[in-house]
Amino acid sequence: MKILVLNCGSSSIKYQVLKMPEEELLIKGIIEKIGEERSIVEAKNSHKKIKVDKKISDHTEGIKEVLNTIKMAEFKVIESIEEISAIGHRVVHGGESFADSTVVTEKVIKAIEENIPLAPLHNPANLKGILACKGIMPDITQVAVFDTAFHQTLPEHAYLYALPMEYYHKYRIRRYGFHGTSHKYVAEKAAKMFGKPLKDLRIITAHLGNGASITAVKNGKSIDTSMGFTPLEGLIMGTRSGDIDPAIIVFLERNEGFTAGNIDKLLNKHSGILGLYEKSNDMRPIEEGYYKGKRLETLIMTMYAYRLTKYIGSYMAIMGGTDILAYTAGVGENTPPLRSLVGKRMRELGFGIDENLNKRVIKYGKEVDISSSEAKVRTFVIPTNEELAIARDTYILTKQVFL
Ligand code: ADP
Repeated sequence: MKILVLNCGSSSIKYQVLKMPEEELLIKGIIEKIGEERSIVEAKNSHKKIKVDKKISDHTEGIKEVLNTIKMAEFKVIESIEEISAIGHRVVHGGESFADSTVVTEKVIKAIEENIPLAPLHNPANLKGILACKGIMPDITQVAVFDTAFHQTLPEHAYLYALPMEYYHKYRIRRYGFHGTSHKYVAEKAAKMFGKPLKDLRIITAHLGNGASITAVKNGKSIDTSMGFTPLEGLIMGTRSGDIDPAIIVFLERNEGFTAGNIDKLLNKHSGILGLYEKSNDMRPIEEGYYKGKRLETLIMTMYAYRLTKYIGSYMAIMGGTDILAYTAGVGENTPPLRSLVGKRMRELGFGIDENLNKRVIKYGKEVDISSSEAKVRTFVIPTNEELAIARDTYILTKQVFL
């Protein structure tokens, strides 16, 4: 069965086609700058790569372009559209409506629409993708896989904020958490590596990309996570501040005349590594400077590791310890000094890292146990694969539809 996985943004479409259940990647691609004069169309698989400029006006044209690309004789992915059995969509916000992936129906479309106020940038784009596919292939099974779903198991005492209850009732202001597909995938992989069922383990998954979040997974369920009502809360990120004293916002309003729009930009786009470093939001130059002993880079690396350590410690406290800490995503998979700093700070709590493995792990490009032999808590590096996780859910749900 061939499954098309789509991640539709406001001006981009990322996609993959996977053969299931073999989990074989047949092609991956991206269309960027949709709606602009010159959109960029890229695709590659093991035997071919293309990159062309052409105008793609909207998501419907974009999806048609994706289908034409995967039909290209050179890629040999499909000969006709009928060979695509189902489509899996990444949908950012399922609100309180979805605790799991689901087959897209009219009711589901309505619920995604209703959750737009919670994710005004992402849900409309995800919906555009679903509706475009529906227009082009009316009979195909579509599955929505939500970034928030895995965290719907958070208990009330973890997801409520200590604000007047009326705002929860009126606007559903609460912790939702994000990156759920990745946290779930990594936790499942970590359990396999550990050799015990997920339901018997306490795992901390650290998804550290440009956006970053950390989750406490107890007995297979997310019981707390660092991103909150929006992806702004928690760890220091590429351009987001993570946790700050909310009174800073009031102070800036009073003293700088900031509006809601200014503050949103400041905290989401101009803070984090970018705010501190002022040159870029990328961890790579920070790592380089850290190795050379440069002051600012060392400070940023230390701050990043310190915030992460505080979260790891607090998640150990709520789970009564942890069996595994698993790092994933761009920064998590590729930054040895960060893992090393966290490991050293947590030594008294049973952490230990094999520094040789820690440095070499990038070369493997697959999951590695980097713990030292005496460590009581295992530290893993696990490349995330959200597209594969979406394809798996889509495959399972599509099989159920056909039965
Ligand atoms: P997202 O999907 O959130 O955009 P990624 O998971 O791709 O992010 O991570 C992107 C970030 O990962 C980059 O901004 C960079 O800081 C970091 N990164 C990627 N490769 C490396 C590397 N080799 N060494 C250190 N950091 C890296």
